[in-house]
Amino acid sequence: MTDCIFCKIAAGEIPAEKVYEDDHVVGFRDLSPQAPVHVLIIPRRHIATLNDLTEADEALVGHMHRIAARVAADEGLAERGYRTLINCNAEGGQTVFHLHLHLLGGRQMTWPPG
Ligand code: AMP
Repeated sequence: MTDCIFCKIAAGEIPAEKVYEDDHVVGFRDLSPQAPVHVLIIPRRHIATLNDLTEADEALVGHMHRIAARVAADEGLAERGYRTLINCNAEGGQTVFHLHLHLLGGRQMTWPPG
């Protein structure tokens, strides 16, 4: 999508601090980190929300989670622990409408989330 900021990051058209990329996903540091480690894992292909996934995307979503775990390990979080989450639509707190998996860590997470 031409006016999607995360599509532009995936394409390298606007800068981001990338920590991982392959043919299917890109991982980059959140501009407004909510924890010492805050990385977003996105699919290269534009998918607006979790609601827009199809059966054909199941491997992609699994891959996003596996890469989140790999980045967490690279950041020294595997044993300490970390949180992954996807916000969906307005009440879920989604502000960027290109699917993204948040990876948060480096501090004690609390529950319930706000
Ligand atoms: P969400 O509220 O789940 O849609 O999360 C969107 C996230 O994208 C927020 O945590 C923002 O700080 C982050 N964000 C927005 N624009 C950028 C950007 N250009 N580079 C990195 N992170 C961004």
